[in-house]
Amino acid sequence: MSKAFPIVGVIGAGQLARMSIAPATALGVDLLLLAADSQDSGAQITNHIVGDYKDLETVRAFAKKCDVVTFEHELIPLSIVKALEADGVVVRPSSSAFVYSQDKAAMREKLSSFPSPHWQIVTSADQVHDFPVIAKAISGGYDGRGVWKVSDAKELAALLQQTPKLLIEELVDFDYEIAVMVARSPHGQATTWAPTQTIQEDGICTMTISPAPHLSVALSEKAQKIALDVAAAVGVVGVMAVELFVKGDQLFINELAMRPHNSGHWTIDGSHTSQFEQHLRAVLDLPLGDPSMSAPLAVMGNVLGGDKPDMYRPYLHLMARTPALKFHHYKKEVRPGRKIGHVTMVGENLVELTQEVQHALDYMSGEVDE
Ligand code: ADP
Repeated sequence: MSKAFPIVGVIGAGQLARMSIAPATALGVDLLLLAADSQDSGAQITNHIVGDYKDLETVRAFAKKCDVVTFEHELIPLSIVKALEADGVVVRPSSSAFVYSQDKAAMREKLSSFPSPHWQIVTSADQVHDFPVIAKAISGGYDGRGVWKVSDAKELAALLQQTPKLLIEELVDFDYEIAVMVARSPHGQATTWAPTQTIQEDGICTMTISPAPHLSVALSEKAQKIALDVAAAVGVVGVMAVELFVKGDQLFINELAMRPHNSGHWTIDGSHTSQFEQHLRAVLDLPLGDPSMSAPLAVMGNVLGGDKPDMYRPYLHLMARTPALKFHHYKKEVRPGRKIGHVTMVGENLVELTQEVQHALDYMSGEVDE
């Protein structure tokens, strides 16, 4: 076996790691995951080490086995990323970029010249004069956790009791939300995919539509340029999601995620290079692949855990009904509201695609049975 093929270490072994396995296999690149548990979604089917990503010596020992280390979540302490870099480990994205996906205050500061909601850091409720506002935990939030709509000073004071320092943002009365996935390599080659509309319910993304159907060509280009400029400004290597709010002809940056992202899952079935393959190419400093779409539209729906534990049986009906539907199951324990898989349809007719995806989600959750 040739030694020239590298080993990519991934901190985390969830569905993002799992979905990286197919393109890694195709490229002949081995993945080594740092898993919390050998039953983690990705760990079930590829090489892994079970260990705590918060423990420096564990991560050090893991990194020694890899040619490059990357992430599938943002929870690893920055001090550990910096320690690896000091050891000479190639970490992509580097700590100097990664901080902007972990620390929302640092991100707001760094991106102050980009279109953003007004913001401030507060430790006391009397620092805020206009309500309502959005309050955010500076780090550690996901899927709407760590984000609160705050109506008055009393509510803010109560929140500050729990979290002494908060990022306060202007509440943007947006028309809809989009995300632009961007990839950047160490020597600065960068690509974006078509901007994607993300539809959220209770803070969780339920569906995405690519390209974002209501976005004008001018705004779409502007959003892609913002994503490319942000990628260069923060120096990210790998893929990154730039989440934005759209209000009329204005865009506002919401947040950054420096890893493959839910808003890019459609790229597996709807673009010439998936976000997972592109991430591997970028962190390995290989030329990036073609991000163009392979169909005019791609609709992705997240399968959320419900009461039904059997997620295999629905294939029978759904595959018979809609042969073009693509299924991705993460093999995670089914818990209510947890993302356990996704389905994608590509084609030309938005109404039809959305209906088929919605039907699949309703059928899998047990809401409809035919
Ligand atoms: P998470 O870390 O959970 O992804 P986000 O920063 O994306 O947190 O916020 C979750 C949701 O809260 C967003 O998708 C959006 O709907 C809403 N939100 C966040 N910031 C604002 C804001 N400044 N104005 C209006 N809504 C916001």
